[in-house]
Order: sequence, then C-alpha cells, then structure tokens
Amino acid sequence: MSSRPLIIAIDGPSGAGKGTVARTLAARLGYTHVDTGAMYRAVAWLAGHNGLDLADEDAVTSIADAAAFELGAEVRVDGHDITRAIRTPEMDAAAGIVASHPRVRESLVRRQREYAQQGGLVMEGRDIGTVVFPDADVKVFLDASADERARRRAHDPAHTSSEAGQIEKVATALAERDRLDSTRKTSPLAMAGDAVRIDTTGMSVDEVVEKVMQLIRDL
Ligand code: C5P
Repeated sequence: MSSRPLIIAIDGPSGAGKGTVARTLAARLGYTHVDTGAMYRAVAWLAGHNGLDLADEDAVTSIADAAAFELGAEVRVDGHDITRAIRTPEMDAAAGIVASHPRVRESLVRRQREYAQQGGLVMEGRDIGTVVFPDADVKVFLDASADERARRRAHDPAHTSSEAGQIEKVATALAERDRLDSTRKTSPLAMAGDAVRIDTTGMSVDEVVEKVMQLIRDL
C-alpha cells in the first residue's frame, strides 16, 4: 500500500451500498469521507427553504456557491441540521433536478476537489471517478441488482420514506432516478473506463470493504 494519502472514488447507482462502504473504508483508513449526494441534497433543501424555483439555474447556482456544508454524521447547510430532512422521496427528486444543472455541478465539483487538500479521501457519488477526480488512486463502481437495491433502500433507517416497506414503489422510484441520472446531459452516471466494478448483490458490507482494501493494498 502506498504511504501517501490516497483518493478513493466510489461511484454507483442508488442503493448499491456506496454510503456504508465509503464510511467504513474511511474509518478504517483514517481518511475523510465525503458523501457528494448529500451536497446535491443540501442545495435542493436550501433552494426549497428560500422559496426558489428548482428549475432556475442562476438562482440555484448562487446558493450552491455560497452554501456552507458540514458533512459528518450530521449534515448541516448554513447551520441548519438537515440530516433527516434530506432523506425523503421529495428530496430524492429535488436533488436530481438541481444535479441536472451544469453550473450547479461546476460549483459543487470545485468544492469537492478542495477536500483533497485535507489528505486521504474516500468520496462517493456518481461522477467522482469520471469528472471530480479522474486521476483517483482507486476507482470503484458499486452495483447491485435492482431488486436488492430497492430492498436496501426500503429498509434504510436513514431514509424517511412515506412508502416505507413498499418495496415495489421504492423500486419504481429508484428506476426512475437511475434513468434520469444516467441520461442527463452533464456528467451522467457512468462507470469510468478504469474503474473496478463490484456487484454487491448478496455480499456483506465487510466483504465489499475487504475487496476494496485489497485493491488499495495492491497499489
Ligand atoms: O447519492 P444520493 O442518492 O444521495 O444522491 C442524490 C442525487 O444527487 C442523485 O440521484 C443524483 O441525481 C445527484 N448526484 C449527482 N452526482 C453526485 C452525487 C449525487 O448527480 N456525485
């Protein structure tokens, strides 16, 4: 394993296990963990809080530029604790809308790159290995079957779903979000050519983390 601090990019669709795996890896390595999805969700929340039209790219970009993010066990934006408020079906949809604006993405990508100055980094999202850190030391693309992803999301205690337990509805919403994320013009969800794809269907978190740790040891 390299002795310099590494950048580890974890991408993949919703429910593939990115959050748990990235958090566990970061804790094990003593690295900073950054959930970039929480940044898009925070901007969507702020836009709603300020009564903005999510389709207004200029206005949403201005608040993204000025937002102060705190991305720990609790998520805060401009001092508001939004840990739970951003994990709802409404915020899933709203984050997808703000994430489709190229200038909002530019703004957040700039902020995401700044985290590398703090040392070792495990960053999760959709475009980390393709756009944010194309030279990341390790790139992993986590995937899982649509059924498994819906099942995990429906049982995720962090996610307040009005459809809790209704796996079919969650599956439909996930499929629609995947479609939007994969087909948007700017930085669509895509696997980097040099990423390692791990299908986490039927795997435990420890097994996935161990696979990524092996990639790191092999550097
Ligand atoms: O990962 P999470 O489900 O919290 O992300 C919420 C939304 O933010 C995604 O559906 C996607 O539209 C957007 N996103 C993105 N690029 C990232 C992370 C999230 O476009 N790097």
